[in-house]
Amino acid sequence: MLDTTDYSAKNLINGGLVDAASGELLDVIEPATGEVLARVPASGADDVDAAVTAAEQAFRSFKRTTPGERAEMLLTLAARIEKHAEHLAYLEARNVGKPIPVAREELPLVVDNLRFFAGAARTMEGRAGGEYLRGYESYVRREPIGVVAGIAPWNYPLLMATWKIGPALAAGNCSILKPSRQTPLTALYVAKLAQDIFPAGVFSVISGSASDIGDQLVADPRIGLVSLTGDTSTGRHIARVAADHVAQTHLELGGKAPVIVLDDADLDAAVAGIVAAGFANSGQDCTAACRVIATQGIYDRLLEALIPAVQAIKVGNPTDSDDPDKGDPEMGPLISATHRQSVLDVLAKTDGTIVAGGNALPGDGYFLEPTVVANPSQNDLIVQTEQFGPIVSVQCAADIDQAFEWANDVEFGLASSIWTKDITHSTRAARDLDFGCVWVNDHMPILSEMPHGGFKQSGYGKDMSIYALEEYTRVKHVMTKTD
Ligand code: NAD
Repeated sequence: MLDTTDYSAKNLINGGLVDAASGELLDVIEPATGEVLARVPASGADDVDAAVTAAEQAFRSFKRTTPGERAEMLLTLAARIEKHAEHLAYLEARNVGKPIPVAREELPLVVDNLRFFAGAARTMEGRAGGEYLRGYESYVRREPIGVVAGIAPWNYPLLMATWKIGPALAAGNCSILKPSRQTPLTALYVAKLAQDIFPAGVFSVISGSASDIGDQLVADPRIGLVSLTGDTSTGRHIARVAADHVAQTHLELGGKAPVIVLDDADLDAAVAGIVAAGFANSGQDCTAACRVIATQGIYDRLLEALIPAVQAIKVGNPTDSDDPDKGDPEMGPLISATHRQSVLDVLAKTDGTIVAGGNALPGDGYFLEPTVVANPSQNDLIVQTEQFGPIVSVQCAADIDQAFEWANDVEFGLASSIWTKDITHSTRAARDLDFGCVWVNDHMPILSEMPHGGFKQSGYGKDMSIYALEEYTRVKHVMTKTD
């Protein structure tokens, strides 16, 4: 278990670092060992009410701050996170089960994202005012929405928290962040770092289980926008609860990314891309390169190269990289025993052939071998559902038309890629693939300036980029009679 000086076991509510009103704590489990890693507040209805009350109060003056003032606060937070990056990476690695070097790579993205929104807050544009009706002057005010509930998942807890708080605060909203019950440690640590940066109530973090505080938070009529990154079923539920008080929702949900590899693709690059993007974060990534569709001229060669590359992925305890005798693991465990079992259950039912991996690894942690499933049918659960595990399926399409048809034939629409040297094929992919992102000859890079978000059951709304900032604002028409 971590020492209590290594993490923060306090909520941030109304500017104070506080225990849950009940005084109760929740165990946080370390996925690599199955042991208790930390204990954090088990918040309840009173804590939600306190956070929303403080946020509503704080909004009255925070909405009057200038973009420049808010940018300064976000830049200060970014600098503090940068200063504590090594410790935050360590907490993230232990809590999520990702190798420390992988967790380290996420920190610059976190810092950059906050800096992007600090700058973007000062550049928001609108339509020019004018006399659209004779005798009247019209202009548009862009305003913050109010109190925003940001609800983050367990797979990239700090990065996803940043995507919630950056645009919300940059736009002048007050933000209440609810991290996942499984991975709250970095969010609570950031709460500690942020305590004296924002006025009391502007930024709150409350830890707790969804069943204790989820509905309470979303159903509170003082919440103007609920921004969730999570499972599609959670998104549907939250949209229904939020609808009761007509709160806006912003839903970044599940994915099932196709990776189309055409006959003319650079085989080595495609294999390297699939290994990197299919097994990153143990495949627990909404954009994971989990569903390869290869055309028949390259299918056999692709499998032949992919299988040994996947078998070579080094699985290990996230902290092994700090031990010179153990070397650098590339992949850690899954988040929980229950989650690993759900992945194994889908694997057990596949009509494809398991050609690499497929087994849980012995021990107390929730490790699973990196797995490749060859030739599952289009209706197979491996193809149609999000496993969120280290499993890549490879299908053989008769031609490019079938590859595109299969790619779109899932309920999700978050991310996709195509591997080809022919610009006519990649241009067609950009037009025809029904996904919020189409990568050409790569899979997974993201950046603060560009939008990230899905179509279909992957949700709606964009994270990152100026599009995200727009979603955290509302537009008001002001019309003045001049004659
Ligand atoms: P989840 O839906 O179980 O939980 C997400 C968050 O919602 C957690 O904080 C959870 O406590 C909270 N929650 C659950 N029920 C709630 C309720 N009734 N009211 C309020 N909050 C509630 O998802 P997860 O298992 O933590 O994360 C994995 C999922 O997230 C996957 O489906 C993945 O694809 C998705 N995801 C999507 C993106 C994206 O950008 N689209 C990014 C990362 C993860």
